[in-house]
Amino acid sequence: MRTSQHLAKRGGPGIACFIPRRLSCLLVNHCSAWKLQPSVVHLPLAHSASARAREASVLTQAISPPTAETASNVDDVSGVRGAHWQVHKFGGTCMASADRIRAAAELMVNSVGPSSSTCVVVSAMGNHPTSPLKVTDLILNMIKKASRQDAAFLVDLAALQEKHVETAKQLLGQSKELTQFVASLMDDITNLKAMLQAMSIAGMSTDAFSDFVVGHGELWSGRLFSLCCRQLGADVAFMDTRDVLVVTPTNDGGSVDLDEQLSNCRLDDWFTANGCSKLVVATGFIARSPEGTATTLKRNGSDFSATIMGALLRSRHITIWTDVDGVFSADPRKVPEAVCLPSMTYHEAWELSYFGANVLHPRTTLPAMKYHIPITIRNFFNQKALGTRISDFAADMEVYQGKATIKGFATIDNVTLINVEGTGMVGVPGIASRIFSSVRDAGINVIMISQASSEQSICFAVKGGDGEAAAKVLTDRFAESIAAGRVSAIQVIPHCCVLAAVGQGMVARKGVAATMMGALAKANVNIKAIAQGSSEYNITVLIDQADSERALRAVHSRFYLSDVPIGVGIVGPGLIGGTLIQQLREQRQLLKKEFGIDLRLLAVASSSKMLMQETGVDLDNWRQDLDEKSVACDLEKFGNFLSSHYIPNRVIVDCTASDAPASKYIHWMKQGIHVVTPNKKLGSGPLEQYQAVRRMQREGYIHFFYEGTVGAGLPVMGTLKHLLETGDKIIKIEGILSGTLSYIFNTFGDGRPFSEVVQDAKAKGYTEPDPRDDLNGTDVARKVCILARECGLLLEMDQIPVESLVPEPLREVASSAEYMARLPGFDADMDAKLRQAEDSGECLRYVGVVDAQGGCGSVELRRYPKSHPFAQLKGSDNIISFTTARYFKQPLIIRGPGAGADVTAAGVFSDLLRLAAYLGAPS
Ligand code: ADP
Ligand code: ASP
Ligand code: MG
Repeated sequence: MRTSQHLAKRGGPGIACFIPRRLSCLLVNHCSAWKLQPSVVHLPLAHSASARAREASVLTQAISPPTAETASNVDDVSGVRGAHWQVHKFGGTCMASADRIRAAAELMVNSVGPSSSTCVVVSAMGNHPTSPLKVTDLILNMIKKASRQDAAFLVDLAALQEKHVETAKQLLGQSKELTQFVASLMDDITNLKAMLQAMSIAGMSTDAFSDFVVGHGELWSGRLFSLCCRQLGADVAFMDTRDVLVVTPTNDGGSVDLDEQLSNCRLDDWFTANGCSKLVVATGFIARSPEGTATTLKRNGSDFSATIMGALLRSRHITIWTDVDGVFSADPRKVPEAVCLPSMTYHEAWELSYFGANVLHPRTTLPAMKYHIPITIRNFFNQKALGTRISDFAADMEVYQGKATIKGFATIDNVTLINVEGTGMVGVPGIASRIFSSVRDAGINVIMISQASSEQSICFAVKGGDGEAAAKVLTDRFAESIAAGRVSAIQVIPHCCVLAAVGQGMVARKGVAATMMGALAKANVNIKAIAQGSSEYNITVLIDQADSERALRAVHSRFYLSDVPIGVGIVGPGLIGGTLIQQLREQRQLLKKEFGIDLRLLAVASSSKMLMQETGVDLDNWRQDLDEKSVACDLEKFGNFLSSHYIPNRVIVDCTASDAPASKYIHWMKQGIHVVTPNKKLGSGPLEQYQAVRRMQREGYIHFFYEGTVGAGLPVMGTLKHLLETGDKIIKIEGILSGTLSYIFNTFGDGRPFSEVVQDAKAKGYTEPDPRDDLNGTDVARKVCILARECGLLLEMDQIPVESLVPEPLREVASSAEYMARLPGFDADMDAKLRQAEDSGECLRYVGVVDAQGGCGSVELRRYPKSHPFAQLKGSDNIISFTTARYFKQPLIIRGPGAGADVTAAGVFSDLLRLAAYLGAPS
């Protein structure tokens, strides 16, 4: 793990803040165009109540006419700019069908008032249930096909033509507007066909050709929109933004900078040529280079077009209509619990979009920020929702400062980590500059940088596809240092993902990074590198791509959910498992309300079938659902289901007594699933398997709790762990560890022969169906083994001598009935033992013993004086005594019911609660 080097400095709050260098890089090229001072953005000192009220009214009246008093005083040559303008942008999904275009057009036509004008920026048609492909994607595919000489590009072209003709027919009906649209479309299609054929003949395409072709999506949707507005009676003008916007590519080619001056002149010219309509429909996404070539603002660029238009027009407000209620705390497709943010600052929106929240194009905020124009993201399909307002000041800042310090999380998928390492780098000036200038010269964009302060390594992340190229330029540049051994080879680590937490609320707040790293550790996510800019607006970590969604959910739930959510899978819904489900049903609401623990049963597996429910198993009906909605049991699939579930904390509770689930623990834990069990098979199974699980537990931050294995619900394992953790030394553990044998020996001595006592225990249901399973001592030996291993003794079961109470001749007897029938024949032996003990004032007890100092364990029939606590036992209670360095003269004794479904399930339940506490539930 590497820690970050400070990448930028920050000024006093609210006066002027230096932008992190990464952001300043974005700005450096931009500054000339936007006339900002290099790397410095001025924020208002305070947000006045009136300004706040004005912005709030803008939010609620995003489409209602603005008031004249808000007009900003700008240098407006043509006299058309000012706060009477509002800009609205409709994303692809809002433009995906004739019905949607008409609804958007109606909304816009109605937004125009006597003192207000509207500029509508539209995207190309997006996907729709009846037409799943986005137009831009379709065009890009078509270009690819043409340039690799695949004639199927003609099929795509025909599909594009048909989609637009059909939409136009539905939207415009038989009308002169339809004729006009179809005529221009057919002209375009003819030209495009010729261009694509040229690409196909040449077997290649250039960026300029490609940009020209791909921009047609916006041209067509823009024309459709404006013709529809005209049919609705509006005074509307169509703006092909290639006539207005002039842009130049940024250094890395990943984005573009606006030439504001030139664009302003072109806008004046446009108004001169087209008049001052109150409604202007402008194409998103497309622009022109200073040389006059058609170009684009890059993928998702229509958002950027909208804020550029907002800035050029000095509009009072910009609304971006899309298909979600606003900006969420994380991509709602990946994190179902994500919440819609009422407001955020420009910086927060900028950071979130930079780090992959594709709800906004990364540069969207820049033009709006320069002129302090608020942006509202709103849901076209749910217009009741107020949306997210992005402005200089987050209206809910006070709330967030008190609560969530992080506004949102986002990921950039598929990045490659490049690591430059070597002892020769220590204290050598200029290494970082050589690395990054080489990478810049190769036109590669650096997403994140981290340098260990020992200076032995610098690592940085680039887009997945740039990894090899970056490594190559560095290998060339550092060839001499590598040959001399000052720099070891340049390491390329592909398939990584950048996870970013963004929020101005984390400025100067302690513990944010620790909480984030803790949440990742608990979700079993390995961190490869960390960076935090000293602006403190974001913390970024680099992780495995495979961990991306789990990590995102884990950190999101840690910062956003007051509850600790735990997804539970239960294997073995028999007596104990069934009781546990019942207890979960009874306690669930209380736990959630009072303790902030959200235990959700997601899956149940019996030996033959399993029920898996994404939204949670119905606790009232689970038995019926297990019968009716289950699939064949497959523990591998059971684990996969839980591990891929969006709830970040998952646990499997193994309530069986079998080997099959126990052999899966290690696999489940590797998948990041915690394990809780009363099943003794792992703890007393092969030592190697047991040790592997314990290692995994320690190293992987994965929990394995097994309180129920010894003494059912009695706090035996917990006490032992506590003694060990607090430095006590265990000398001996001795106990009556079986409820059955406890009952038998507590009762034996009332005058009845041994066989009758066994018969009585069986009749009362205290024994296994075959009482030999209790009397052979194996169950007690398993518990001894578990206790011994906890004390650090590396014992296998066969190293624990067990005094079986099943007489030798009866061990191989086939049926339990025959065993019971022949048992009286052996009473004499046991009776004699009892008499001997009683003659010396003692009693018989069947005990398990761990001799921690001698390094051994045993299970045997022992004699105890009548005054001994073991002699006082009643019914089927368990008793365990710990003799330790601290509890030497008088051992520590735990006594109570040690068998039965209720208490065992309660022991398991307490493990679940302990797990919740480890995962961050309030104590
Ligand atoms: P449009 O076509 O309207 O521009 P996009 O598909 O470009 O829409 O952007 C909207 C999508 O962005 C949403 O449907 C959502 O899945 C995704 N998204 C990613 N991160 C976020 C986030 N933090 N908040 C909201 N939406 C997000
Ligand atoms: N149509 C373009 C794209 O899909 C621009 C946009 O919709 O924002 O990338
Ligand atoms: Mg978009």
